[in-house]
Amino acid sequence: MSTASIQHYINGQMMAGESGQHQAVTNPATGQVTGQVALASQADVATAVTAAQAAFPAWADTPPIRRARVMFKLLQLLGEHKDDLARAITLEHGKVFTDAQGEVARGIDIVEFACGIPQLLKGDYTEQVSNGIDNWTMRQPLGVVAGVTPFNFPAMVPMWMFPIAIAAGNTFILKPSPLDPSASLLIADLLARAGLPDGVFNVVQGDKESVEALLDHPDVKALSFVGSTPIANLIYERGARHGKRVQALGGAKNHMVVMPDANFDKAVDALIGAAYGSAGERCMAISVAVLVGDVADQLVPRLAERARALKVKNGLELDAEMGPIVTAQAHQRITGYIEKGVSEGAELVVDGRDFDATGAGDEYAGGFWMGGSLFDHVTPEMTIYQEEIFGPVLVCVRVPDIATAIELINDHEFGNGVSCFTESGSVAREFGRRIQIGMVGINVPIPVPMAWHGFGGWKRSLFGDTHAYGEEGVRFYTKQKSIMQRWSDSIDAGSEFAMPTHK
Ligand code: NAD
Repeated sequence: MSTASIQHYINGQMMAGESGQHQAVTNPATGQVTGQVALASQADVATAVTAAQAAFPAWADTPPIRRARVMFKLLQLLGEHKDDLARAITLEHGKVFTDAQGEVARGIDIVEFACGIPQLLKGDYTEQVSNGIDNWTMRQPLGVVAGVTPFNFPAMVPMWMFPIAIAAGNTFILKPSPLDPSASLLIADLLARAGLPDGVFNVVQGDKESVEALLDHPDVKALSFVGSTPIANLIYERGARHGKRVQALGGAKNHMVVMPDANFDKAVDALIGAAYGSAGERCMAISVAVLVGDVADQLVPRLAERARALKVKNGLELDAEMGPIVTAQAHQRITGYIEKGVSEGAELVVDGRDFDATGAGDEYAGGFWMGGSLFDHVTPEMTIYQEEIFGPVLVCVRVPDIATAIELINDHEFGNGVSCFTESGSVAREFGRRIQIGMVGINVPIPVPMAWHGFGGWKRSLFGDTHAYGEEGVRFYTKQKSIMQRWSDSIDAGSEFAMPTHK
């Protein structure tokens, strides 16, 4: 089988780069190597920054409504090619096709938001702040900005960043995950066809070395990162040391509380979809069920039955509910956590390690397969409670009441998403107010905010100040300038030595 050469995209051209380094890209369903992705050196990154820097002045000077028109055209092209993107995602990530379609759709929402950039960049104006003086503020682009993205959303997470960055007048360098890099090049092609000038959007393939080169380059003014917490922390510190603007979104351990008054049918559906969808490889996956009072005795057997019945198959099969794990290393890491849970005394109710995909055909023998796992009687001291497993493993913690549930969640180091299933308005209200988490769902298991609301966790799930996309995204990718203006007929003769005040 021939393998694709997956290159950089710089200044409107595919480029092999000068590093000579590559990494294999694998189809997780079969374990077959399908491509070799280039790994950029510092010099390759410098080439991309030079191209982006050269494209910046003309693009920043382009009227916002004309930049918005490129986004409108992209919107149309994405509508025509969304299934091509979804298919490319399934082939390299493994997630089921319908889920990949959902990821692309949520990314398209941000492109649609960015179409409104003329309105979003509109400044404030105050007439006559003093005699003959007006004052206004405007937001201007930063220059070259970069985005470093994780494997688990190879289209959506880049689309959290570049539509707003570009529409605001910046030029952009995307550094995708080397595990599933093809979606980035499909997007680059659509942007070129939408009429985006060369050099405004660039893709540098690579890993640690390319990210460090972006962080250290003086002409990269801001960097958005999404990935695991230890790397997010490093990125934030290194970027800040170089005086860059950095937003670094990290890992998660998302809890879902089920109250005794909840609708149990809906709660079971929600837990199964949110824990095992995308094989649990979502930063908003539910990985902890917090079962209040006697809820566990009723819910755990139902969850176990549903976890055992999951349709785990090649994501391209339309009835698949869960695909394979992204890589052999990730499979090994998740298996290690399951062993740890057993050795620390949790009850393994469903063991996903038993899953065998070869019944579906010999071509799956080399794939990274695993079924859904379910643990009960998990306690806060256990590793499987404290750490992000990032796989199809749901752990159940039993608590006596809502106050204990809130305390448990607030004590966790992560603060990305949370959900509470209840029929009580007052419990829901109190939960929403007291919980120390950035994104909250009430009877909504995965509360990913809409394009115009912004996405971000609290605590060690986000380093930096601004959330991704929405108006926070516009603020992140622009800097505010204030202008005060007057004309000579309102200027009194003579120097003023006192602090100017309004007259
Ligand atoms: P990762 O941290 O391994 O990699 C993320 C990016 O950083 C990739 O582009 C990778 O090439 C690069 N990278 C890896 N090691 C690096 C290093 N030492 N120095 C510089 N760059 C480095 O994450 P992943 O495994 O690709 O993605 C999964 C993680 O991302 C999970 O922890 C998940 O919770 C998190 N995530 C968070 C969000 C969010 O919005 N908070 C969204 C999606 C994923």
